[in-house]
Amino acid sequence: MVNIQKLKYKESLKDKCGIFGIYGKGIDVARISFFGLYSLQHRGQEGAGITVTDGKNLKSVKGLGLVSTVFDEEKINSLKGFASIGHTRYSTTGGNKLCNVQPVVLNLKNDDFALAHNGNIINAMDLAHKLPSDVKLSSTSDTEIMGWVIKNSSGKNWEEKILSSFNKFQGAFSMIALTKNKLIAFRDTYGFRPLVLGQLNGSYIACSETCALDTVGAKFIREVAPGEIVTIDEKGINVVDKISSLKKSFCLFEYVYLARPDSIFNKQLVHQVRQRSGEILAHESPIGADIVVAVPDSGTSAAIGYSKASGIPYGEVLIKNRYIGRTFIQPEQYIREMGVKLKFNPLKKIVKGKRIIIVDDSIVRGTTMKKIIKILRGCGVRKIHIRVCSPPVTDPCYFGIDTPNKKKLIASYLTIKEIEKFIGADSLAYLSLDGLKKASRIKSNRLCSSCFDGKYPMPVEGGFRKDVFETIN
Ligand code: AMP
Repeated sequence: MVNIQKLKYKESLKDKCGIFGIYGKGIDVARISFFGLYSLQHRGQEGAGITVTDGKNLKSVKGLGLVSTVFDEEKINSLKGFASIGHTRYSTTGGNKLCNVQPVVLNLKNDDFALAHNGNIINAMDLAHKLPSDVKLSSTSDTEIMGWVIKNSSGKNWEEKILSSFNKFQGAFSMIALTKNKLIAFRDTYGFRPLVLGQLNGSYIACSETCALDTVGAKFIREVAPGEIVTIDEKGINVVDKISSLKKSFCLFEYVYLARPDSIFNKQLVHQVRQRSGEILAHESPIGADIVVAVPDSGTSAAIGYSKASGIPYGEVLIKNRYIGRTFIQPEQYIREMGVKLKFNPLKKIVKGKRIIIVDDSIVRGTTMKKIIKILRGCGVRKIHIRVCSPPVTDPCYFGIDTPNKKKLIASYLTIKEIEKFIGADSLAYLSLDGLKKASRIKSNRLCSSCFDGKYPMPVEGGFRKDVFETIN
């Protein structure tokens, strides 16, 4: 058995991450990956890494922190090659360690193999138990386990190995692998997390979101389909296989919060989905007020929609310090609370005596909204109505979003009225699940909405999150 004791440590094996891979001869692939990762920074701020191949060896630079902290000119220049993959990492408490920063690299004799993963597989522990005894895991990441499972599966090349191991993985995986001479991009049959393909002159790219293609000047080609495995090399993009998808389950929360508003998935611009959800919310839960305010930036698109549909003017009230990371990420509650104050400063003069509607994308633990309301009360606001552009988050995600465990999700233990009281709002309303699905314009049975309704597209009982939950409690 492999050294899985490490995995029982208080660590989470799940990631909400950004991935970027490029194949292109005669171009600076590391630098382009750097810019690609920069535009995917919102998907993870805890660590970043880039691995390149020169045809013989893989070379990596990885570190904790933001993309701009990890890389400098010297480090980018040290990564020479014609294909690369990169990763920005986001984990929960305890998981923020250098050993878990991706890409994960398996150093094999003459055949190095690297992986960048967005998602979470729920059977990581089971798979780890089945690995040969000589495998020594160097991280506590499910991605490394996947790497070893792939390595030990049958096939005469890496794409065949990926194909023969595909059905062993339960859960979410949008991945880009790097071998000595090619990229291999693949996506689980549910299609939980996004993965898109693009073209930059004669080079090809696979990455999490279309915003990264825009940033590096690449053209969107198409999405990697759920269950699809493609290779990217000097012959361009080639489909290895497409395993049939029994249940497509694109993550609804990508539209709510995770993705950048300028990204497009399933032909839907995220900004427009959010704007429509704001419009629907205005119809579902109208209220009289003087001004509609967004919690920037996550609530901005929805607030514009709410304002448009309600006829109540939209205004800037919360000024955001954009040099502060996402407060949600801070592990300690007291730091999270201070974080909100560091992040938002209200325009006191504008809101004094006003009735305001605050629109945000979601309430998870309730920390952010409670603090914002407290700050605004201190400015003499007359009425504060909260409109949330997603349904109550009641259940944890097993498929790659770092929602806390169930007992920390405020909507799992308080009613909407009780939450209203807890955060100190004059009124609180959430968007209905039907409303959100309608805003996405995707068929309801092709979406994963488990964080809102607890209906998981596959059995999660005993799934990896639960192991983590049990060991940390
Ligand atoms: P909370 O203070 O715990 O209620 O967190 C809610 C805030 O966190 C909202 O303003 C969201 O924009 C943001 N948020 C929601 N989900 C996530 C996530 N998975 N990672 C980081 N931030 C999130």
